[in-house]
Amino acid sequence: MPAISRDDVQAMDRSDDLAGYRAKFELAEGLIYLDGNSLGPLPIATIARLRQGVEVEWGQDLITSWNKHGWMHLPQRLGEKIAPLIGAAPGQVVACDSTSVNLFKLLAAGLKMRPGRRVILSDPGNFPTDLYMVQGLAEMLGPDKCELRLVNEDEIVDAIDEDTAIVMLTHVNFRSGRKHDMKAVTKVAQEKGALMLWDLAHSAGALPVELDDCNVDLAVGCSYKYLNSGPGGPAFLYVAKRHQDQVVQPLSGWHGHASPFEFDTKYEPSGTVDRYLCGTPSVLAMLALEESLDLWATVDMAKVREKSIKLCDLFISLVEERCAGHGFELASPRNGDERGSQVSFAHDEGYAIMQSLIADKVIGDFRAPNLIRFGFTPLYTSYMDVWDAVERLRVIMEEGRHKAAEFQVRAAVT
Ligand SMILES: *Cc1c(COP(=O)(O)O)cnc(C)c1O
Repeated sequence: MPAISRDDVQAMDRSDDLAGYRAKFELAEGLIYLDGNSLGPLPIATIARLRQGVEVEWGQDLITSWNKHGWMHLPQRLGEKIAPLIGAAPGQVVACDSTSVNLFKLLAAGLKMRPGRRVILSDPGNFPTDLYMVQGLAEMLGPDKCELRLVNEDEIVDAIDEDTAIVMLTHVNFRSGRKHDMKAVTKVAQEKGALMLWDLAHSAGALPVELDDCNVDLAVGCSYKYLNSGPGGPAFLYVAKRHQDQVVQPLSGWHGHASPFEFDTKYEPSGTVDRYLCGTPSVLAMLALEESLDLWATVDMAKVREKSIKLCDLFISLVEERCAGHGFELASPRNGDERGSQVSFAHDEGYAIMQSLIADKVIGDFRAPNLIRFGFTPLYTSYMDVWDAVERLRVIMEEGRHKAAEFQVRAAVT
C-alpha cells in the first residue's frame, strides 16, 4: 500500500460533511483533543444555557422554576432526547443519578425478576465500577441471593446457565475499544432465561445503538463522555417497557413515587419507567445535558459512525507507518466493525509517552498497565488532527523526549 500523504488527509477533510460541527465546541487553538471518550468538551451553546439557568431560572424565578421552566420533568424530557440515540421508543429512558447508582438499581430489580437465579455474569475486563456495584449488592443480599461470576469476554455466552439471572456487559470495552455483538449476545442470554443488561458508557454518542431492535432488557449509560454534558453530568437508564411494572427497585425515593406531591407516608411506585428515579435531579447539570442533546438531535449518527471508523483506521495506519520500530502494538481490533470509537496501543513506556504527548497538546489518556488510549469523536476531530497527532508522537519517539524525568511521575488521574 502506498504511504498516506498529508495531501490525502487534507482531501479527506474537504469532503467531510461533519466538519462544520467543530465550531460549535470550545476547543483551544492548536489543541488536539483525543479524550472525548472520557470527558467531552464544552459545547459553546451550553455557556449561555447555563447562564440562563443560573441567572434567570435559579436567580430570579427561584422555586417557581420547577413548574415555570419545567425542571420537574427534566429526567423524563432528557430521557426522551437520549432515546433516539440508543434506539429506544418513548417511555423507556430517564436521565438520572450516576452510571454506578443506575447499575445498582437495575441489577437489584433484575435479580428480583429472575427468582431462583442468583448469578450476575460479567467479564473481568469490564469497567471496575460495574463489578464493584455487583460486589456491594452481593454483600448486601448475601451469597444465596447474589453472586458475581466473571469469565473472559469470549467465553461469556457459553458460561450462561440456569443460575444466571443477569448478563452484565459493557458494549464497548473501555480499554481495548472492542465492541460486542449486542443482538447476538442478548439473544443467547434470553434463550437461556437470563436478562441482558448493557452498559453504553462508550457507545451513546459514539455509534448507532438499537436497544429495542436487539430486544435488550436493561441498559445504563453515561452522558459526560461522547454526549458532552460536562464533568459529572447525569447518567441515564433504560428499562424495556415489558419489565417496567414488574418489580420495584430498592432506592425508593420520592421522585419514583406514583404521586410525589401527595407526600404520602407509604411508597407507591410509579407505573412507568419513572419508578427508577430516586431523588431531586441536579438541575444545572441537566440543563447542560439538554443543550448538548439538542445539538445531537441535528446529527446523523450513520455519518458519525462512518467518520469514526475512518478516523480510527487512519490513526492506526499512520502510527504503524510513521512510528514503526518504536514498539507500539495495536491493542484494539483492526476491523472497524468490531470497534467502538477509540484506539489503544500497548507500549511499555506508555505513561511517559502520553505525558509527553499532552505536553505537546495532544490529549489522550493512559490505562494501566501499559495502554495509551485515544478517543475519536467525529463532531470536533478532523483528519488533519489525526495526522498532526501522529506527527507529534513520531517526533517524541525519534527524539526520545518521553524519557525526561518530568514525564515519569504519576498523577492521581491518568
Ligand atoms: C465511565 C464509565 C462509568 C462511570 O460511572 P460513573 O458512575 O458515572 O462514575 C461506568 N461504566 C463504564 C463502563 C464506564 O466507562
